[in-house]
Amino acid sequence: MSGVRTDWDVLVIGGGPVGACAAALLQRATAKARRSLTVGLLEPARPTPPAPDAPLDARVSAWSRASERILRAAGAWEHMAPQRMEPYERMCVWPETLSARSPQALMFDAAYAGEANLGVIAENRLAQCAALEAFAASGGTILPETLSAVTIGEQAVQVRTGSGIERCRLLIGADGAHSRVREAVGLFAHAHSYGQKAIVANVRTERPHEHTAWQRFLRTGTLAFLPLADGSSSIVWSVDEAVAGELLGMDGPAFEQALLTASDGVLGTVRLCTERAALPLRRVQAERFTAARCALIGDAAHVVHPLAGQGVNLGLLDAAALAECVLRAHRAGEDPGAMSPLRRYERWRKSELVPLALAIDAFNRFLAHGAGPLSRLAQRGLSWVNRSDEVKRFFITRALGLAGELPEAARRGDAWLS
Ligand SMILES: Cc1cc2nc3c(=O)[nH]c(=O)nc-3n(C[C@H](O)[C@H](O)[C@H](O)COP(=O)(O)OP(=O)(O)OC[C@H]3O[C@@H](n4cnc5c(N)ncnc54)[C@H](O)[C@@H]3O)c2cc1C
Repeated sequence: MSGVRTDWDVLVIGGGPVGACAAALLQRATAKARRSLTVGLLEPARPTPPAPDAPLDARVSAWSRASERILRAAGAWEHMAPQRMEPYERMCVWPETLSARSPQALMFDAAYAGEANLGVIAENRLAQCAALEAFAASGGTILPETLSAVTIGEQAVQVRTGSGIERCRLLIGADGAHSRVREAVGLFAHAHSYGQKAIVANVRTERPHEHTAWQRFLRTGTLAFLPLADGSSSIVWSVDEAVAGELLGMDGPAFEQALLTASDGVLGTVRLCTERAALPLRRVQAERFTAARCALIGDAAHVVHPLAGQGVNLGLLDAAALAECVLRAHRAGEDPGAMSPLRRYERWRKSELVPLALAIDAFNRFLAHGAGPLSRLAQRGLSWVNRSDEVKRFFITRALGLAGELPEAARRGDAWLS
């Protein structure tokens, strides 16, 4: 058809950490193969990598072991500066009614599972830039364009961008929570607001963070201190919108005092070292993750509450699972956009995701807003978890991202290609 600029095998929309990783996995796995795949990526807002000595961004995530392996398989991990990443060894979780130092507070130690750490805390931008770099280094093409419309045909998909038309056999929607791809191909998503905002900032604390992620369940939400590589901590304070308004309206010293109180002084006094940012929290769950010649991954398919630190980790598992299904079809000489690999991907990831998303919601309802009898029961449940090494190991395996049916890249990392 006239006007089409390029025919791609796969076109990924959105070069966030998840889309960039999916593109890099596909490109890397077939770059040297006899039958390669042509992979394009649309990303209108490619960030610049942080300078080695620049202060750490306030948007960070806890990257699980499974995510580390997937980033390695994509060739991205080697581009992530180790001095900007903090391996965290423990996670302490405690409700408002207890002190973090009390024996009833839940302490998950990587050593219980025979691991050196539970994962790393690193900036989102660091991983995103590394995955984009890995994709480009293995021969992938990044187009600085925005998708505006999609037409699905029997043999191909046409994508309209700000400056022309691209065509592909498989379209991957990795364009985040407000996915234009999801809307354009008519995939319905259940969405509801939690009525909360997450306030994020980096802080210096009086006491060292002890390479530990601290999370307190409060009646008004959750407060997490994530340890950072420069000794500071990243706070993620999820609170009801009205409370968020009050906290954001405070001047620096008043906010620092509120943080000290809400954290029960677990790390001593607190001093802000970045601006505060507030992100509205909502849950999104696409009813289907696939349509003809199209698959959704990452936040485009599902958005969960940040209290469990799972969002991007689930997205990277989507990326690796989809890449595995598509590559298997491609190696068998099938069309990468055929329905059978897409259905396999959808069944696989939905069966892992739906129960987990429900569990995260239950944590938010009963632990983070704890007042009624169910909440008291849930809080008693925490001390029960504390008494059983086996249950603790179960949660640690979840935190490492190593539970459930894992894609090969999440099991084998770089060895995935051999
Ligand atoms: C406060 C907070 C804390 C969090 N902490 C954690 C944590 O500790 N661990 C964890 O696992 N997760 C965490 N998350 C979740 C995590 O941040 C998200 O799940 C993750 O960023 C989603 O990545 P993504 O690549 O799917 O989407 P995004 O990062 O949203 O990327 C989407 C990309 O698509 C591009 N795009 C959008 N529209 C178009 C278009 N029309 N055409 C072309 N491109 C387009 C955008 O420019 C963007 O680059 C947290 C979230 C919040 C809010």
